[in-house]
Amino acid sequence: MRALLKEIEQNGSNRSRKNQMLRQAIKFSLHEGEKSITEFCKHMRLSVPTGTKLVQELIDKKIFLEAGKRDSASGRKPTVFDLNPSIGYVIGVELLLNSIRINILNLRHEVVFEFKNDSFDISKEDEAYRFLAKKIRELVQSSAVPRDKILGIAIAITGRVDSKSGISYTYLQRYSPLTVSLENEWGIPVFIENDTRLMALGERRFGMAKGKSDVIFVNLSQGLGISIISNGLIHGGHSGFAGEFGHIHALENERICVCGKKGCLETVVSGLALEEIYKERYNMSLPYEQILSKMETGDKVLKAILSSMGEQLGNSLGTVVDIFNPEMIVIGGSFTHVAEFMKYSIIKGFSLQGLPQLIADCEVEISSLGGQAVMLGSFSLVTEKVLK
Ligand SMILES: [Zn+2]
Repeated sequence: MRALLKEIEQNGSNRSRKNQMLRQAIKFSLHEGEKSITEFCKHMRLSVPTGTKLVQELIDKKIFLEAGKRDSASGRKPTVFDLNPSIGYVIGVELLLNSIRINILNLRHEVVFEFKNDSFDISKEDEAYRFLAKKIRELVQSSAVPRDKILGIAIAITGRVDSKSGISYTYLQRYSPLTVSLENEWGIPVFIENDTRLMALGERRFGMAKGKSDVIFVNLSQGLGISIISNGLIHGGHSGFAGEFGHIHALENERICVCGKKGCLETVVSGLALEEIYKERYNMSLPYEQILSKMETGDKVLKAILSSMGEQLGNSLGTVVDIFNPEMIVIGGSFTHVAEFMKYSIIKGFSLQGLPQLIADCEVEISSLGGQAVMLGSFSLVTEKVLK
C-alpha cells in the first residue's frame, strides 16, 4: 500500500485522472467493504469497461482481492472485490487519564493485535511517554506486522488537542509537538486528535452517523465532551478545542470540576460525577465502571442516579440542539451499555429545553460501535491522511 501510494505520487501529477480513480476506488473499499464492478462503476461514475480495467489493475497490484460471489435475489450472483487486508495496517492508540489501549487494525479495519493497561497514569508525563514509546516498538516487533506496511499511528488523547499542529495542550506537553517527538521515536507517521473527535470520526464513517451531515456525538465517559459534525465534517474550532461541553456552566453547585471551575456540567454528568454521588450516598469509593456494572443487578438507587443524570444531560443538549439544529444525537463513550436505559431521561430533558420544531427533527441514538468507535476513528484519520 505504501509502495502504491508512492507510485501514484511519482507517476505524474497527483491530480491526474488515473491517480484520482485509484485513490477513489481504494477509499470506497476502505469505507464500504466488498463491492461488485457495477457498484464501483456507479459510485465512481465510470463505464463498465473502465471500471473493470481499474479493478483489474488493483488486483494485479495485489491491492484488491476477489472476495467471492454475493447472494442476489435475481439469481445472478455478482463477483465482489475487497481490499487485500494484509497490505496495510493502522495503529490506534487511546490515551486516557488512567488507561492506555492500543489496537493494530488491518485494511478491513479488523483488529489483529490488541493491548490494554489500566494502571497507566498520563499525568506522570515522562513515565507515560517512555511507556508509550517503548510499548509501540515492542508491539510492532511481536505482532509480526511488517513495519513498512504500517500506514500511520493515530493517537486519541484526552484534553485539549490541536490536531493540525500536532500539539497536546493538556497532557504530555513536555514532548511538544507530540506528533514530531513520536515520529522521531518510531519513524512512522503520527497523528493526534482529541478522543471524542476520533470517536465521532468513527461514528461518521462506520456507525450511527454514517451518511448523516449534521450530528452531535456525545462522549459520556469519565468526563463529558461532544463532537460536532456539521455539513459532514468534524468541527474543530479556531484552535481545535471545540466540544468542551462538560465545562459549560450548567448549575450552581460547590463541586470543583477538574478544570478548576464550579458549576460545570461534568460535575453532575460524567463518570467522575457518578463516583462522587456514589461516595456521598454509600460512603464508598468505587471506579465508575464498577458502579455502572451494578445496573446488571437492577440497583434501584443507581437507576435513579442515572435517570437524573440523563435528564440533566438532556437539558443541556436542548441548548446544543437549538444552536446547531442536528438531525441526530449519538450517545457513546463508556456509558454506552447503560445509555439505552438513560435514553428516555435524555429525551425528556432535551424536550423540555429545546425548541419543539428542532427537537422533533432530531433523533437520539445509542452508539452501535461502543468502545471501538475511537479505534475506527483512528483508522479513518490515518487512511484519510495518507489517501488525501
Ligand atoms: Zn469544568
